[in-house]
Amino acid sequence: MRIAVPKEIKNNENRVALTPAGVKELSNRGHEVFVQATAGIGSGFPDEAYAKAGATILPTIEETYAAGDMIVKVKEPIEPEYKLIKKDQLVFTYFHFASCEPLTHAMIESGSVCLAYETVEKEDRSLPLLVPMSEVAGRMATQEGAHYLEKPYRGRGILLGGVPGVKPAKVLVLGGGVVGTQAAKMAAGMGADVTIMDLSLPRMRYLDDVMPANVRTQMSNEYNIREAIKDADLIIGAVLIPGAKAPHLITREMLKDMRPGTVLVDVAVDQGGCIETCTPTTHENPTFIIDDVLHYCVANMPGAVPYTSTLALTNATLPYAIELAEKGWTKACQDNAELRKGLNVANGKVVYKGVSDAFNLPY
Ligand code: NAD
Repeated sequence: MRIAVPKEIKNNENRVALTPAGVKELSNRGHEVFVQATAGIGSGFPDEAYAKAGATILPTIEETYAAGDMIVKVKEPIEPEYKLIKKDQLVFTYFHFASCEPLTHAMIESGSVCLAYETVEKEDRSLPLLVPMSEVAGRMATQEGAHYLEKPYRGRGILLGGVPGVKPAKVLVLGGGVVGTQAAKMAAGMGADVTIMDLSLPRMRYLDDVMPANVRTQMSNEYNIREAIKDADLIIGAVLIPGAKAPHLITREMLKDMRPGTVLVDVAVDQGGCIETCTPTTHENPTFIIDDVLHYCVANMPGAVPYTSTLALTNATLPYAIELAEKGWTKACQDNAELRKGLNVANGKVVYKGVSDAFNLPY
């Protein structure tokens, strides 16, 4: 198969859909890989590394899109890319169709086959192509939190791990899923005193078994949250109710119970946030302060660490890309139920219920 990797053109997107190692895997199997010039530069992969791995480097985005039977990307196509996608082309990337009606119509009209990373689903209902980005965001949440706790950033001026003779900081993690677990693990590793709150007892039993002794679990409810926020230094929001807006576990009125300089990192901000006062921010301007409480609410945290994020994402996407290249999408989706769930648009029709429901389109 001919596989093409365009350079991402969405603002501030530095990830790339294939690494040179991925190109090598595909070309070893006899596939032809085309990479747009400088596509990997933001993630630390120069054109020469792709060429050495067997890719043909193409100078423009138009030539790159035209070269592929399968286009492998990171972000959803944006307006200037719509016209470059042709009938019968397979596009494998994040789409998030339900949040963009113009993209949905453009892909229906293109006649292409759109396989969305975010809806590839395993039998246990986990989303294997979203997990890596949650892992990155979870680990980063603690790193950013520790940074903004420093006084020059208007945090409390407390070191997460303390020092001998001085107590460590208290970290409260709301939600013990992928993000919360990774955040807690990092905070625990730095020596903080960590509490994870979740609603799921089986999840808390598991976390209690695997986490070090400086991590406790506690049932998530309003009473416990109100008590915990009084002396928490860093609060990380990591709840998810699949398919719904995040619940506001911390309301505006609760900020007055926090100490000045407390840091809130609401990772769930992309689902509306679990802290009422959180509104999405960007890497250029990541924080704001309300009632002396510092808020960090960047909606695309992995974007700040494109090297790690690209490797994490492609570790997860490559096996699926290989299966699609080897079998073609029809047979690959027949054989593999996980990939079949990723199909969102095919041959001019929406084939994913969530997308047809979002815009009242035939399904
Ligand atoms: P997950 O499904 O693995 O975990 C969510 C956890 O929240 C579950 O354990 C669930 O039991 C728990 N939960 C639900 N309601 C709760 C409540 N009321 N109190 C306490 N816990 C509750 O999800 P995840 O992969 O960890 O993702 C968490 C959030 O982070 C999502 O909104 C996701 O979209 C977001 N995310 C954001 C970024 C970013 O850059 N900002 C990056 C990746 C993921």
